[in-house]
Amino acid sequence: MSLRVESVSLVLGDGDQQVQALDNVTFSVAAGELLAVVGPSGSGKSSLLAVCGGLRKPTSGKIHVGDTEITALGLEQLTSVRREKIGFVFQQSNLLPSLTVLDQLLLTVHLRGTRPGAAHRDRAMGLLRQVGMDARSHRRPAELSGGERQRVGIARALMSSPSVLLVDEPTSMLDQGRGRQIVSLLRGQCHEHGVAALMVTHDPDMLEFVDRAVHIHDGRLQQLERAHAAH
Ligand code: ADP
Ligand code: MG
Repeated sequence: MSLRVESVSLVLGDGDQQVQALDNVTFSVAAGELLAVVGPSGSGKSSLLAVCGGLRKPTSGKIHVGDTEITALGLEQLTSVRREKIGFVFQQSNLLPSLTVLDQLLLTVHLRGTRPGAAHRDRAMGLLRQVGMDARSHRRPAELSGGERQRVGIARALMSSPSVLLVDEPTSMLDQGRGRQIVSLLRGQCHEHGVAALMVTHDPDMLEFVDRAVHIHDGRLQQLERAHAAH
């Protein structure tokens, strides 16, 4: 199992304003699997991603990324695990406006303190080919559609070979057809690269394209259902 969440609770706010954002949540995602957590606004989806990504410490419970219990780490170790083992795909792709598609991917190498070389360039172009964006590697974000930007965001997240991918509402800015393509693409990439992916969404239409789905309501996971795999 690449992501293991064990009895995790998160209380936010203070005094009378306290909210139980996550209530004793337990689940895991295997390497190569795309799990969707589906729930309405306010159900705890962003909170769940924040604790899994080490951006927030849960009030109680444990989270393992591979063999590492991230809930036991200090800030410095946590930062390096986050950089090396966890990839993020955002609601809006969060690309830098001034950089070309290829440079968005190479920037992640820079941020890990390495000067990108020919091997990095090859890896980046390979990933862009897999998401169908290699022919647009010299474009800037403003010249791309919303779906194309999400494709680049996915390739960028995979650039550092993460073991866990955390995906926040990747289709909310896309029409349904493009949304489906993006989720199918994500699933294929997780299988291909053996990445454990956790995607949160409010859109039940996307469940058809994931490996497994869980519902979240008021911070609690509800029934587990097999998704109907498209292929
Ligand atoms: P979702 O992403 O599903 O919309 P969130 O995880 O953002 O849900 O929020 C879960 C609950 O926690 C909601 O009731 C929300 O109002 C509350 N919440 C979120 N962030 C904070 C915060 N910083 N302080 C207090 N309550 C918060
Ligand atoms: Mg949210």
